[in-house]
Amino acid sequence: MPYPHAFAPASPPLVSAAVYDPAMPDNRPAVPRQLARDLLVEAGHRCAIPTCRATTLELAHITPWAKTRAHDFDNTIALCPICHTRFDKGEIDRLSMLQYKAELGSGGARARVLSAYRTMQGALDRWGKSIAILARAHVAFAPDFYFIMQARSTCEREAGLTHAAVADLQSAGDDTIELIAHFIYDWFIHWASSTVDMKWPDYSQSREERNSELNILHEALLELHLTVADLLGFGFDELPFWEEPPPSPQPRPLGTAY
Ligand SMILES: [Zn+2]
Repeated sequence: MPYPHAFAPASPPLVSAAVYDPAMPDNRPAVPRQLARDLLVEAGHRCAIPTCRATTLELAHITPWAKTRAHDFDNTIALCPICHTRFDKGEIDRLSMLQYKAELGSGGARARVLSAYRTMQGALDRWGKSIAILARAHVAFAPDFYFIMQARSTCEREAGLTHAAVADLQSAGDDTIELIAHFIYDWFIHWASSTVDMKWPDYSQSREERNSELNILHEALLELHLTVADLLGFGFDELPFWEEPPPSPQPRPLGTAY
């Protein structure tokens, strides 16, 4: 028997000893055994990066421990020491790591927030463009009613897609995200319906009035961005405000000029 009973460890550690070291400078507690096991099972007891799959494992916090001060399933991923070091050095960025976590399937609540947020940004972008096209069609020198009808239906479709995207983000995010997303959606609904009613552009408005309405929207968009970044534990430079909006899920009808 290798150990006298009194000193025998209850059970061997599941992952690299470093994770369990009680003498870590920031006094972090050990990862609970069941959590470690859940994470290893999630990754199939291999490095979570699919092309690596090494079998010596450590547990890495996606958002650094120093920020969250907590061990939780969604923020932790099983990596081999090499991938872990590359991640710590920034060779693998945190957006990618969040994506690897999402691809493991069972976790990824945070990755869902991010993808719902990006989907909503893309949907808002397309909806906004469709509203602007409708407004231009209304004030054209020779209004083309067929074109206006098409522009309206595009606008309605984009509104529906945005509504779904907002609902997804609201269910993935927290109360603050829900509130701000709702506000932004309402702002767009107001813009879209006044355009359909031909009350926008409102030429009785001064430039200042128009700018202050736009500023309210911009502030809400920025607030949403900061709240999402904060929830994910991303710094401003790690989560760019704007990435390429995803392409429209449906092709434009043939023969439209835009
Ligand atoms: Zn690896």
